[in-house]
Amino acid sequence: MQYFLAIIGGGPAGYTAAELASKAGKDVILFEQNALGGTCLNVGCIPTKSLLYGAKQYYNATHAQRYGVTAENVNFDFAAMQKRKTIVVRKLVAGIRQRLNNEHCTVINGAANVLSRTDELVTITCNGETYQAQNLLICTGSSNFVPPIPGIQDNPFIWDSTAALAATELPQSVIIVGGGVIGMEFATLYNELGITVTIIEAMSRILATLDESISAYLTTVYSKRGVNILTSSKVTAINGNTVQLLTSDSEAIQQLSADKILVCVGRRANIQGLEALNDLEYIRGAIVVDDFMRTNLPNVYAAGDVTGKIMLAHVASRQAEVAVGRMLKQIPVQRIAYNAIPSVVYTNPEVASVGITENDLEGCEEHTLPMTFSGRFMAENEGETGLCKLVVNTKSQAIMGVHVVGNPASEFIAAASFAVRMGYTLPEFRQVVFPHPTVSEILREAVNDK
Ligand code: NAD
Repeated sequence: MQYFLAIIGGGPAGYTAAELASKAGKDVILFEQNALGGTCLNVGCIPTKSLLYGAKQYYNATHAQRYGVTAENVNFDFAAMQKRKTIVVRKLVAGIRQRLNNEHCTVINGAANVLSRTDELVTITCNGETYQAQNLLICTGSSNFVPPIPGIQDNPFIWDSTAALAATELPQSVIIVGGGVIGMEFATLYNELGITVTIIEAMSRILATLDESISAYLTTVYSKRGVNILTSSKVTAINGNTVQLLTSDSEAIQQLSADKILVCVGRRANIQGLEALNDLEYIRGAIVVDDFMRTNLPNVYAAGDVTGKIMLAHVASRQAEVAVGRMLKQIPVQRIAYNAIPSVVYTNPEVASVGITENDLEGCEEHTLPMTFSGRFMAENEGETGLCKLVVNTKSQAIMGVHVVGNPASEFIAAASFAVRMGYTLPEFRQVVFPHPTVSEILREAVNDK
């Protein structure tokens, strides 16, 4: 049988594309070597959020005096948290399988390799069988990057995020190498569960790609909670459970030890199995795609982390929609609004942002309000001030970026994304009515205050 579309990888990009193309009546085959759902569902977003939610319950229970509540003998059971995480993941994976079954999409469990390609046909092998399709969509995702630090390989004290998520027991202390998104989410988990945490970050601030005032706010909050944050610090070697590091303000090498060393210094595109596509174009190890997710080979598309654009599950799904739309020659032709992609970091408090930051301020002005301008925020976030920053084009008054730190920022950043995506100006956004009392009203307050 010849398929219309072969998809390698069953993460958010792969399963979204499979469902869409199948729904459109096309024959689709999807190859996945592990579980459906990819990194996000199995070893990323969902398991992390399940564990973080448990940790937050424990933290809130032990810090409830702020709200006039005392609880004694509060404990947590890490094995029970892990068990719940596994059940959540299993149910969601089963849901994806069901949805693909409903659309009669063929799913093959195994590692696929491209065997050959012409402009008309792509041939793939998997588990000793060969399959042919008119189009190929590569959604092979990314893996944890292992930096070339001496002593990191085959070291039982080293964890990557996958190993940390699978751990059955908690360490008493952990060093986190990399104060990016993954590093800060694990710092939150461990700190809330009472584990001693040190973060080592090479840049001059944690979450260096985010707005500077947000990094500064979280640095203050986490330092007060006892997290040791070492910025402008490079790990030069690891020896067993001891890390050697060099800070930019000192020539002396420091040594730090912990029960575990969690290394999270970025991810790299998975490109194994694609060797037969020898003309496929790459940039910095990721597949080059145009606005419609087309590679330089006519019937080969790519979506998700493997394109190295923005490594987020919701970007992957949207890229998959655009790729399939293009294959099906749907009108109007879709593009991705990369300027309006929301992102969330699940620290406590949460960070959520969309659009440009103060680093790209040319022609724009920024305006910041504390989250305490929201009555609901005041009622529910004792001791927190948070902040909401608006970036506006000075001339057109269009909203270009919104950056929030404060709970529950993740739940209302979509409203800001909508404004950025649609190019709303301040006068237009002022006409939007927000429900009262909600923390989302901070967006309206920030716009009114401008
Ligand atoms: P990252 O790029 O966010 O952060 C890695 C950090 O490690 C950087 O700040 C970098 O300066 C630092 N670093 C690099 N080498 C170092 C060294 N030798 N010593 C000290 N620090 C060093 O990468 P990540 O945190 O690994 O996340 C990977 C990807 O997964 C990102 O694209 C991220 O957006 C995505 N992700 C998203 C979410 C979410 O949306 N909530 C959650 C987890 C991961």
